Amino acid sequence: MDFDKSAEYHERAQRVIPGGVCSQVRATAIPCPLYYERGEGSHLWDVDGNEYIDYVLGQGPMILGNSPRPVIEAVKQQVEKGFVYAAQSKNEVLAAEKICEYYPSAERVRWASTGSEAVHCALRLARSATGRRKIVRFEGHYHGWMDPIAWNHPNPHAELGPREKPTLRRCSEGQFPEEASNLIILPWNDLTLLEKVFADQGQDIAAVITEPIMFNWGAIEPLPGYLEGMRRLCDEHGSILIFDEVITGFRVSVGGGQELYGVTPDLTTLAKTLGGGLVAGAVAGKAKYMERLADGTAFHGGTMNSNPVCMAATLAFLETIGANGGAELVKAHTSAISLMEGMRELALKAPLPLSVRGVPGVVYAAFIPEDAEPFVDYRSSLTADLAAGDRFRRELHERGIRITERGIWFVSTAHTQEDVETTLEAVAGALEVMTEEDLECAHVPFSVFGKDR
Ligand code: PMP
Repeated sequence: MDFDKSAEYHERAQRVIPGGVCSQVRATAIPCPLYYERGEGSHLWDVDGNEYIDYVLGQGPMILGNSPRPVIEAVKQQVEKGFVYAAQSKNEVLAAEKICEYYPSAERVRWASTGSEAVHCALRLARSATGRRKIVRFEGHYHGWMDPIAWNHPNPHAELGPREKPTLRRCSEGQFPEEASNLIILPWNDLTLLEKVFADQGQDIAAVITEPIMFNWGAIEPLPGYLEGMRRLCDEHGSILIFDEVITGFRVSVGGGQELYGVTPDLTTLAKTLGGGLVAGAVAGKAKYMERLADGTAFHGGTMNSNPVCMAATLAFLETIGANGGAELVKAHTSAISLMEGMRELALKAPLPLSVRGVPGVVYAAFIPEDAEPFVDYRSSLTADLAAGDRFRRELHERGIRITERGIWFVSTAHTQEDVETTLEAVAGALEVMTEEDLECAHVPFSVFGKDR
């Protein structure tokens, strides 16, 4: 494989675009940030003509595969009729109705443009509805890059501090500790700790925000009873439970983590898959909270929110993913299981300890010592050997398989059994060339954030 054209664009880009990328995670691409020309179904082609089976899927959005037909057709029709009206279009109502149909917590929906904005709106609503300031968030979860919440993101370089009171870590320079003075940061999946925090500070807690599955690091599922416990604590203390379903939404189930686990939050944030690959985020939730937006009691705005092109795409996506009881999504889940089982078999024969786990629609693969504790939170997940994971990703990339920098493989409804088989051949090839020397190498390559954060 050669990457000459991408390297040339990257070189040029760095003169006009800082780092040559427009979202920091893209700086981790190998061998350098690549330029893509075309995507179709489960495949992508870069400007040098290299072809990949794509398990990044735009970091999640392309669950119907790249360039999904229903979305293309809907967008084609709308672009002839206008892009932004600073007003309503009928599709935003139809799409909001679909969300209310699919999401147990959704009685009302407000459209935003990104996941970060949807989270921002949900936090404001929670504070508005409770008159309280504090937000509980969990180590290693990601809820977008906005100052009030962008703390203690996954960063394997950073010091953790005590479990009961993790060291506060900003995500970026330009953030100051007082901005996080209303955050309570905790390790995830520890109900005893959460109970203790509610016992001490319950009257000040506006909301608990959580990913129902910890997808921004390690694909970790909630322990039995944990989400239920969170729900109970929020009810007992009059706090609002927010599920950030930006990744889980329309992936682990049409109705997201709340449908999968049967725990209904008060507010839900959605994005990524939601727009069918175009730009759409949403906050959805119980009417009694959401109605605070109706008269601007809680203010929310956005020029590009619910723009008609993206709403056409969103509606087409929602109709497709929910049709026939979610039959389409089953395809992604089936392919993910088949991939996971195949990888597990290969891992058994491999000399290195490759651990492969599955969560619906996602496979997670990492090199973890056999005697390591199971992953339950960010801290326990740090036993994954990041250097070996990175080498594995490089070897796969050389063989035309594109996975995320953190070992998560997103599977789409467009992946076929043939893709799975081709992928397994590549996995076997990658494992064959990897040796003990790839383990625990001093260089830890994955860092989206600065080293002191
Ligand atoms: N919440 C979660 C759970 C996410 O994974 C992300 C993005 N990775 C966001 C919020 C922010 O979404 P966006 O990038 O669309 O702002």
